[in-house]
Amino acid sequence: MSAPARSTHAASTAKLAIKTSRRTELRKITREVADIVARHGAIDGVCHVYVPHTTAGITINEGADPDVAHDIELTFDRLVPREAAGYRHAEGNSDSHVKTAMVGTSQTVLVENGRLMLGRWQAIFLCEFDGPRTREVLVRVVPDAPA
Ligand code: ZN
Repeated sequence: MSAPARSTHAASTAKLAIKTSRRTELRKITREVADIVARHGAIDGVCHVYVPHTTAGITINEGADPDVAHDIELTFDRLVPREAAGYRHAEGNSDSHVKTAMVGTSQTVLVENGRLMLGRWQAIFLCEFDGPRTREVLVRVVPDAPA
């Protein structure tokens, strides 16, 4: 039997290592993700952005005015205090886990003609909730199957 032909529309996963600098930080990663998508050429499909972490997440929000990311960070820290009566988790970062549960660990962006179909004001953010540290971001580009 001959080996199956290698698919020209195979998905693949790329890894980014993103260094954060604060305990709570929305770090824009749109450019890094767009560069990975662009390597696939002028494809249509979807792009999954995922973090394999329990104290960091992914969100899409306004990237034009940096004050928006600041205000989101501030609000998360106010909503979920670092110390709270009743926390049991011995690592002392229960707030980081709770914030991550609120944000989620992935986003999917549509891709058209090799470009992320983000709105004019949208950016993709790695949400650091227990930094600073280096985080892994997995980016999987899945082209549409041929019609
Ligand atoms: Zn923990």
